[in-house]
Amino acid sequence: MAVKRDYYEVLGVGRQASPDDLKRAFRKIAMDSHPDRNPDNAVAATRFKEASEAYAVLSDPGRRRSYDMFGHVAVESGGPAVDFSDMPFADIFDTFFGGGGRGAGARRQRSNRGDDLRYDMTITFEEAFVGVEKQIDVPRLTTCERCSGAGAEPGSGEETCPGCRGSGQIRRTAQSIFGSVVTAATCPTCGGAGRLLRNPCLQCRGQGRLERTRRLAVRIPPGVDSGSQIRLSGEGEAGIRGGPSGDLYVVLRVKAHAQLARHDHDVIYELRVNIVQAALGDRIEIPTLDGAVEIAIPAGTQNGQSFRMAGRGMPDVRGGRRGDQYVVVQVVVPKDLSAEQKALLRKVGGLTGKPEKVSKGFFEKLRNAISLD
Ligand SMILES: [Zn+2]
Ligand SMILES: [Zn+2]
Repeated sequence: MAVKRDYYEVLGVGRQASPDDLKRAFRKIAMDSHPDRNPDNAVAATRFKEASEAYAVLSDPGRRRSYDMFGHVAVESGGPAVDFSDMPFADIFDTFFGGGGRGAGARRQRSNRGDDLRYDMTITFEEAFVGVEKQIDVPRLTTCERCSGAGAEPGSGEETCPGCRGSGQIRRTAQSIFGSVVTAATCPTCGGAGRLLRNPCLQCRGQGRLERTRRLAVRIPPGVDSGSQIRLSGEGEAGIRGGPSGDLYVVLRVKAHAQLARHDHDVIYELRVNIVQAALGDRIEIPTLDGAVEIAIPAGTQNGQSFRMAGRGMPDVRGGRRGDQYVVVQVVVPKDLSAEQKALLRKVGGLTGKPEKVSKGFFEKLRNAISLD
């Protein structure tokens, strides 16, 4: 028997190669030398066998460790040799590169699971604040009650699939230079079910599922925001032939509040005051999520200045600290003043200091504050 080549050498990678490097190297060799692509080419066939054996060992962390320490001896006795050359080309790539090495069994189970569903729901800002329970009507595929999802007319039964004798898989045994290899593929006659219906159920026509609208209660916790998703486990489409149901995702959109804006857990309120309120200070009632609250703005409040009201923001969905409310002051400078108002303002300006300069400075200051906004 010929001396075996080093597995790393076979794949053309270094000993430090990552799983991805190995996958890439094997994929490249497989592309070039797979028997499906090289009929009657003995050299290619040998190369493919060699590479698939090397990949089978090195892609398994445990076997790779043994091989690294003890060489070929360690892995030869550690389980049946693997050969992929009997597997159709497409299956190899599905197995190795499709979903991280899922076997046929995992694939079949996965396809039995019902689909996930999405339900879009709009709620008000206030509902997002306090939380709410909503009833929703969800049209979805549910298990047929006439046949309990089996798809067979009651009493008619099923027969074992003659193609696979009930296993759902077609197994093939092939001899290779590394020993006998068994490969399995989904039975084409029954699609992997292992059974065939004698009489399909009259209600679901053998599908085992029916579209029904079901009313569900959805509990929305306080603090949700637009884009928040609530997963209702098992409330998606029913599985096929008794497979597990999918999930239902309720995707939320929260309507804007008339007066409060939201920023993460905080809410922002823009408070408009006139120049007298800003200059002298005032007590003003403002809206919060908890209702109207009176706050005192100090004398000399500037345009764009903000005040924080701790703990007046949105609740945290995960039960953490509540956000804050920020009151941002906008000083509204009056336009279209009457002659009397103008005279009064001039008088106010005159009282703040030296008449001719400070009078200008008062409005100058106001202008400067606005430009900061
Ligand atoms: Zn049915
Ligand atoms: Zn079958």
